[in-house]
Amino acid sequence: MPSETPSDTAAARLSGIRERIARATAISQRDPTDIQLIAVSKTHEAPAIHPLIEAGQRVFGENRVQEAAAKWPELRQTTSGIELHLVGQLQSNKADEAVALFDAIHSVDRPSLVAALAKAMDKTGKRPTCFVQVNIGDELQKGGCVLVDLPGLLAEARNAGVPIAGLMAVPPLGLEPAPYFALLAKLARDHGVTGLSMGMSDDFDTAVTLGATHIRVGTALFGARA
Ligand SMILES: *Cc1c(COP(=O)(O)O)cnc(C)c1O
Repeated sequence: MPSETPSDTAAARLSGIRERIARATAISQRDPTDIQLIAVSKTHEAPAIHPLIEAGQRVFGENRVQEAAAKWPELRQTTSGIELHLVGQLQSNKADEAVALFDAIHSVDRPSLVAALAKAMDKTGKRPTCFVQVNIGDELQKGGCVLVDLPGLLAEARNAGVPIAGLMAVPPLGLEPAPYFALLAKLARDHGVTGLSMGMSDDFDTAVTLGATHIRVGTALFGARA
């Protein structure tokens, strides 16, 4: 028996995720092609990422600008069609770099960042798809705008020409996530945006049944982070 290669493992994990997505979309009568799987590759280096690219994955997520800038330009040179999403907090002074590097930004959560992104977009002419991150569990020290600030922030983004595709959230750790996913979906409906970035390795099935359009999966694809 030939031993399992990293590429077999990556392909198996990817098809396992695809099956979970398929089950969740079947239950909720959705089209699986409406769900974008973002492979969150934070902390993983190129040798761990290559097998997933070989298995056909093209959309990746990172949570830090610096880390992404260090590894993706080279990975992108060898593969066409790579799409890179920023899923972590963004400092306003890194807005230029983020706009240059990423195709989507999931963590827009305050007016100063909207202003910095608008400036960076006007300067470069590049307009990554943006999501407003909502602090859905109203947790101290968690990223995302608080619920009462959401309407104002969406209005500011629209006025500034920052394209908002939808909302993003990370539910509170250790609590049943479904009510938070349902709330995020309701907020998106109320505010007329269609994108829903929600669901991670442990709960993306539930997120898909509740309307997720973008799921952010790290551990289930790459294994545990160090
Ligand atoms: C790390 C991270 C993920 C992926 O989490 P897993 O549990 O490893 O799937 C998703 N979203 C954000 C914002 C993250 O920081």
